[in-house]
Amino acid sequence: SAIFEITGVTKIYQTGEVEVRALNGVELKLQRGEMAVLLGPSGSGKSTLLNIIGGLDRPTSGSVKFKGEELAAASDRELTLYRRNHVGFVFQFYNLIPSLTAWENVALITEVATSPMSPADALALVGLENRMHHFPAQLSGGEQQRVAIARAIAKRPEVLLCDEPTGALDSATGIIVLEALARVNAETGATTAIITHNAGIRKIAHRVYSFLDGRIASCVVNEVRIQPS
Ligand code: ADP
Ligand code: ADP
Repeated sequence: SAIFEITGVTKIYQTGEVEVRALNGVELKLQRGEMAVLLGPSGSGKSTLLNIIGGLDRPTSGSVKFKGEELAAASDRELTLYRRNHVGFVFQFYNLIPSLTAWENVALITEVATSPMSPADALALVGLENRMHHFPAQLSGGEQQRVAIARAIAKRPEVLLCDEPTGALDSATGIIVLEALARVNAETGATTAIITHNAGIRKIAHRVYSFLDGRIASCVVNEVRIQPS
């Protein structure tokens, strides 16, 4: 069943006299539990849509339904609660606290969540059971990003949104991070959407949505998805 139903979404950014139509009538249904990848040239609207799905931004017009609830009409307070209770975010930069270990960085989030997994379980899900007591500076870029993924999923969000999680990594390391996301998706069932330019994603995602000029130009269902080990 669809967890998100997005219809006719348009986003116009106004900077002074200049109007930018970042999204232009987007239609998208994300199925509960799927791992979707958003592809497309720079400026085609991927981040704008991810931010709207995550309640970080609002559409100019159109409808964004999360489990039947209209996010486009939610108050600021409701959007904050939606983000806090339902959405995990991963960005290009890891934003780990350098003076805290991997375990402590995750624990910071689990302390304030309603029914979190343990930091150790979250770190094990991304293959870092042997790095829990390392500080960020003692970890590689890929390992730091996996800590950030553990932090994002430890509160058991229903939705995991990743904006260029491999953007600062070489392609081989990027694939390891994407495989960690696939494992998280398979094990937790969190509906996952990822923006990445790493070609390895085509073997990992359930569906590939290609953006062009503020619209989804095509959607490919992956028939040869490699199951995460
Ligand atoms: P079907 O109705 O034939 O399953 P889908 O479009 O739902 O077609 O999915 C096609 C393939 O993509 C499936 O074989 C499955 O491996 C994968 N897939 C899509 N969505 C999911 C999902 N939510 N969970 C697991 N696998 C999925
Ligand atoms: P992508 O993620 O595909 O690179 P974006 O969603 O970031 O695309 O951007 C889509 C368009 O919207 C671009 O033309 C971009 O410059 C513009 N845009 C994005 N965010 C803003 C903003 N906060 N203010 C003004 N224009 C923006």
